[in-house]
Amino acid sequence: MFDPIPLGKNGERLVENGVQNPPRENSDKLEFNCSVGLHDGCGDDGYMEMKSVSATHNAIICPSCYLRVTIFKSVNTYEALRKCLEDRFQVSA
Ligand SMILES: [Zn+2]
Repeated sequence: MFDPIPLGKNGERLVENGVQNPPRENSDKLEFNCSVGLHDGCGDDGYMEMKSVSATHNAIICPSCYLRVTIFKSVNTYEALRKCLEDRFQVSA
C-alpha cells in the first residue's frame, strides 16, 4: 500500500485501490498505469485515470467529480508523484 498522496489544496487525496491481498510492500516504487488509484472520499466511482493531455504532460482525472491534476510525463512512479504533488499542495498545519 502507498500512503495517501495529496491531490489538491482542499484535502483531496489519492489512495490505493481497495485492499491488496497479500499487502504489497514498497508500492511507492511501483510505476502506475492508466488506472492510478482511488479518489479518497469520492465514493466507489472515484477511480482516478491518467491520460495524455499534451506532448509534455499527463493528467490524472477523477471521472466522478472531475478533479484534474496535471503532471509531467516523466512522473511515472508513486514516489515521484508524491514528491511532485506534496510540493504543489503543501498543507500548512
Ligand atoms: Zn473524485
